[in-house]
Amino acid sequence: MLSSLSNPPSLMTAPLPASEPVTGDDPGVYRTLLESTRAIPWRIDWATMRFTYIGPQIEELLGWSPSSWLSVHDWADRIHEEDRQKTVDFCVSQSQQGVDHEADYRALTRDGDQVWIRDVVHVVRRQDGSVDSLVGFMFDITARKQAEDKILQLQRELEILSYRDSLTGVANRRMFDTLYPVEWAKARAIGEPLSLVVIDIDYFKQYNDHYGHVQGDDCLRRVAQALDAGASRSRDLCARLGGEEFVLLLPGTDGEAARNVAERCRKLLGHEEIPHARSGVGRQVTVSMGVGTIVPGAQDDPQVFLDRIDRRLYQAKSAGRDRICDSEA
Ligand code: GH3
Ligand code: MG
Ligand code: MG
Repeated sequence: MLSSLSNPPSLMTAPLPASEPVTGDDPGVYRTLLESTRAIPWRIDWATMRFTYIGPQIEELLGWSPSSWLSVHDWADRIHEEDRQKTVDFCVSQSQQGVDHEADYRALTRDGDQVWIRDVVHVVRRQDGSVDSLVGFMFDITARKQAEDKILQLQRELEILSYRDSLTGVANRRMFDTLYPVEWAKARAIGEPLSLVVIDIDYFKQYNDHYGHVQGDDCLRRVAQALDAGASRSRDLCARLGGEEFVLLLPGTDGEAARNVAERCRKLLGHEEIPHARSGVGRQVTVSMGVGTIVPGAQDDPQVFLDRIDRRLYQAKSAGRDRICDSEA
């Protein structure tokens, strides 16, 4: 049994008031109105915690006949286990304070299915302020909840997609720009080394000119996969910076390990044996790389460090391409 229901406050033991019937000049009109709407009306007497009314529509929605709704325990028992305690606690505490409220929860149907309900509750008080009864409407919000879930799922998918390079499937520049400062700050805080490898495909313009853009795109995908496989630790990131340029962000990686990662990437790309008839350095697609490591200090700047590694890449180019440069000339 739920604690907030088994522990009635003093208000709940107040004498039963003469209950006001839902009437006007023509009670039939009100009843018809109440029982023909999709919202399901109900009334609970606060002193006894028993239903004094529930709309017959409840049976169509949940399968439980109106006569089976006797006390608040029937209501609580028909709430999904995961929502039960917090819903009951919330509604009881709001009611005790005399505050109108709304609660969304999953109700259980007689068949064992679930229906999302929004219960909108008005607390009826006597002249002295004490609680007399609760009246409310239950709305079926299942369709709305399903739509909301779908939207959340699409938003999550969009977020994943917006950090992914659509051509190669590796992370995109946005992801690198987001993660690099975070890893930098972390490395600085704990005093660990952070390495970068900046990579550019050699003679890629000639590749495109010779094989065409479609095959050029395919080449980019294969290079990206080789680089991604080479940077294999869980915190490593392989991102396409744009065009035929990539970066590896390697947290917790010292200079020697970074150089090993770069070598491994070159080897994996070599295994791909992508023919390049117009390369100036051989017969296959190759890359040039700039590599560097830093334990960031207070005076260091991530952009300055990235520029330094980028200059090493261009040193590798001017030294003949198809190579790694890990120091200043
Ligand atoms: P280097 O060895 O000095 O790096 O020379 P390069 O020809 O690789 O460099 P350059 O910057 O002159 O040319 C890069 C080429 O990359 C230009 C363009 O044709 C090609 N490229 C850039 N982005 C894409 C893309 O998304 N798809 C394809 N197929 N080609 C691209
Ligand atoms: Mg380039
Ligand atoms: Mg290039």
